[in-house]
Amino acid sequence: MSVIHRLDPHVADLIAAGEVVERPASVVKELVENSLDAGAKSITVEIQRGGMSLIRVTDNGCGMSPEDAGTAFLRHATSKLRDEYGLEAIGTLGFRGEALAAISAVSRIQLLTRLRGTDEGVSLTLEAGVETERESAGCPEGTTILVKDLFYNTPARLKFMKKDVAEGAGVTVAVTRCALSHPEVSIRYLKDGKEEFQTPGSGAADACIYAVLGRDFAKTMLPAAGGSPDIRVSGYICPPANAKGNRSSQYFFLNGRCIKSQLVQAALEQAYRNSLFTGRFPMCVLHITMKPNQVDVNVHPAKTEVRFLQERSVFDAVYRTVLSALQGETVKPQISLPDDGEKAESVPAPAAEKPVFPPVRKSPPAAVRPADTAAAPEKSGPSAVSAKSRETLPSNMPEIVEQLVFRQSSRSYGSPEPVKPLITHRADYLPPEAPEAEVEPKQPEPESPPKAAPVPAPEPVKPPPAPPAAETPLPPYRILGEAFNAYILVECGEELILIDKHAAHERLLFDRLKQHDYPSMGQLLLAPEVVELDAEDKQRLLENEALLRELGIEAEDFGGNSLVVRQLPSGFTPADAAGLLEELSASLLLGRRPGTLGIRDETLATMACKAAVKAGKGSDPLEWKPVVEAVLRGQVKYCPHGRPVTMRLTHHQIDRNFKRC
Ligand code: ADP
Ligand code: MG
Repeated sequence: MSVIHRLDPHVADLIAAGEVVERPASVVKELVENSLDAGAKSITVEIQRGGMSLIRVTDNGCGMSPEDAGTAFLRHATSKLRDEYGLEAIGTLGFRGEALAAISAVSRIQLLTRLRGTDEGVSLTLEAGVETERESAGCPEGTTILVKDLFYNTPARLKFMKKDVAEGAGVTVAVTRCALSHPEVSIRYLKDGKEEFQTPGSGAADACIYAVLGRDFAKTMLPAAGGSPDIRVSGYICPPANAKGNRSSQYFFLNGRCIKSQLVQAALEQAYRNSLFTGRFPMCVLHITMKPNQVDVNVHPAKTEVRFLQERSVFDAVYRTVLSALQGETVKPQISLPDDGEKAESVPAPAAEKPVFPPVRKSPPAAVRPADTAAAPEKSGPSAVSAKSRETLPSNMPEIVEQLVFRQSSRSYGSPEPVKPLITHRADYLPPEAPEAEVEPKQPEPESPPKAAPVPAPEPVKPPPAPPAAETPLPPYRILGEAFNAYILVECGEELILIDKHAAHERLLFDRLKQHDYPSMGQLLLAPEVVELDAEDKQRLLENEALLRELGIEAEDFGGNSLVVRQLPSGFTPADAAGLLEELSASLLLGRRPGTLGIRDETLATMACKAAVKAGKGSDPLEWKPVVEAVLRGQVKYCPHGRPVTMRLTHHQIDRNFKRC
């Protein structure tokens, strides 16, 4: 007796529906994608009870003829693909002809549609995929689909739905993605009768981001544009200081389709390495544009997963674009002055680089929209930014022209001595009345700061190291002194800059350490140092001896709970040995396994931290110069863990604070 039989088509439809329609969010995604494919310029999405009781999507797209309106709900019925050759160059978001069939199989549907250029529309009613009513209808050109009682006929699926609030949140994410993917389309989103957002549909990516993601992200975001002629990357990223505790604000789009891609995510995060705290993730809205035949979007029914033909090139394009956007970032953290009126105001950037936004979040008026950056991303990109800032620097700047005016550092806060410049760059920066006699003989040049270390990529996809950046000219500056034994005060152009000396020095050392070959970093100790540790720490370290050696540490079992340390990374003293080993053991415990890049950097950061000048302790002004210059050259912006190292006050802000202007 045969036990195998073909499934009833209705059951097969329900199974297939499960793949496309998992929850309300997937229904909304499919319907909005259909509207986008239909060339709509305006789309309204409404949901009630998280989309479980009602989803309505209205568009002004091409609409359907009465004949097509019925066919559209059949499985594998599509107008977007004719034959197998078409699969290689999909230019639409849909192509599988499954969504409407799947959605209608598990809900009640009302469709109202009128084909563009025709006089009359049609209204259809379907229950569980079966057409129950059809009549002519007077309606505007375009399509409205109303989906009611989702999963009413699949109790098994219904059981797995979360609370309406959670499903509603899922829908919001789906609409957000659709809206960000097509800034040229105005998308309005209403939840339980309340408008959540409406994008202007002007094509300007920044105005769209502002409408959807809100002011906080839009105000601080950095433009990113780059890639190769074959793979264009454009969009916006956040400064490291604004990173989030999760990846929910990372939006990637490929040819207008929202995608999930570990490769692209890795490229993004790689560019931020050493600018972020562990556990912090960058926010971004990044659009990748490439030939459709260079990517396979037919990996999963939801079509959010993709396979790239040239993975390495895609990684590279994203990595380099983000890195240069970060490097072109203006080094101005947010500050708020007590009398500033506005809270946490970021220092204004030139209009061409940063968009200006109105104060209210929703529905920004078209008049205040910034220039269309989506249309010409190159112009507002990072290269333009850095080129611009270079222009403002004096030309024919001598390589290093310093007048070192060393005075005894006033090490305590509130020193009665008038503050005089301790170190200036360029003689002409000295106040004219500065007496010649105070200028001591030129001191030996402290070692100049290293260039930024090349950022390694995660295996297996390694980007080539970034080309060495040309040495940025040094603007004229003078060091005024130190506050609280922690912050170096520098006057530079029209700014007063406070530099966290420990954080900045730590970063400088970290970059320098990273440039070394690990094995050659160690220095043999004159007398071996015996270090007492926890039994567990000791065991863990012994198990990772190879890693220790790689980091320049040589340590052996010395019986009991002790290790004998014979070699430490250069710059470390025997007194640092115990702390260093404990830190290392803690890093290993946190799961950063040897061989991964994380633990190396973590350890190097620990080393740099231990070797850097300490906040709260007086330090020699000579030590400040390389730190200050690295900051002014833009080589140091964040400590290895992502804390900003500078705070800037403009002359104007200070004057304003004193009511001088
Ligand atoms: P696919 O999008 O993969 O083609 P769907 O089941 O989502 O499959 O849609 C089937 C067909 O119905 C589409 O190919 C399109 O011709 C038509 N259609 C669906 N939604 C709309 C819409 N909003 N406006 C115009 N035509 C639509
Ligand atoms: Mg579709």
